Amino acid sequence: MNYFDLHCDTIYECLKTNQQLDHNDLSIDLYRGQSCSNWVQTFAFWISDDLRGEAAYQDFLRQYDFFQSQLEQNTQLRLYDGKAFSNYCNAMLSVEGGAVLAGKIERIQELSKRGIRMLTLCWNGENEIAGGALSQGRFTKFGKQVVKELEQQGIIVDVSHLNEPSFWELCDFAEKPFIATHSNAKAICNHPRNLTDDQIIEIRNRKGLIGLNFYLDFLAERTPVIMQNLFQHIDYFLNLGCQDVLAIGSDFDGATVPEWLCGIETVANLYENMVEYYGRDIANKIYFENAQNFFSH
Ligand SMILES: [Zn+2]
Repeated sequence: MNYFDLHCDTIYECLKTNQQLDHNDLSIDLYRGQSCSNWVQTFAFWISDDLRGEAAYQDFLRQYDFFQSQLEQNTQLRLYDGKAFSNYCNAMLSVEGGAVLAGKIERIQELSKRGIRMLTLCWNGENEIAGGALSQGRFTKFGKQVVKELEQQGIIVDVSHLNEPSFWELCDFAEKPFIATHSNAKAICNHPRNLTDDQIIEIRNRKGLIGLNFYLDFLAERTPVIMQNLFQHIDYFLNLGCQDVLAIGSDFDGATVPEWLCGIETVANLYENMVEYYGRDIANKIYFENAQNFFSH
């Protein structure tokens, strides 16, 4: 089974719990990831809404340096460059929180040099760029410059966490496809972090990607959350014509997930169930091919 995950917070959690990437008690480690044939894992460097200005940037550096140390220590860890090597963890890097820029446009070039492939514009609060899902913020003049520069530097805009007004403002001036790395369908689970039908259709029309989030609160409004709840989201996205758009954005180590989907070692079972329910072609698209096609071009 090939597996391409657009979002996890494992680096932040490793640092918080003083653990390493090769073996740990978190949702993702390199050892358990060996169950995948081709594995592309996006590691997000998460910037808390408590941090702004240089403090936000310094926390990015702390996480980035930790990732570099893991890269040096683990021969089976490599940076993803559009090609997925089997028997490796092919790591794609992103930053979750545009506060990392500390309001400085030149930081984008630096992120690009450090191999960052995606920037989640906001977390839940408001920052120098736009408004997050739990804020009333809007796109700023600086935010518009940021999107233009990201597009020029080839860093993909991630709209997960953006509030809906900011999302539609972005649509007025964004020229390149963008991604919602870890968001589900609001019609199935009414949460401000999930996407409305119009947002889903807009991302589809722009040939972006949407990563299915495993967070309990984004999957269903009631417990217990069962696999059928996740399939309701997939059914919904497929009915909106998202067969070439849908991907995985687990949110592992950043969210509370169902017991039956509690780590990288459990994604094979979900895959087998998806093959049974949707057929192998659709399962392969969601699990790997859609994201791989997006990032290999
Ligand atoms: Zn998130």
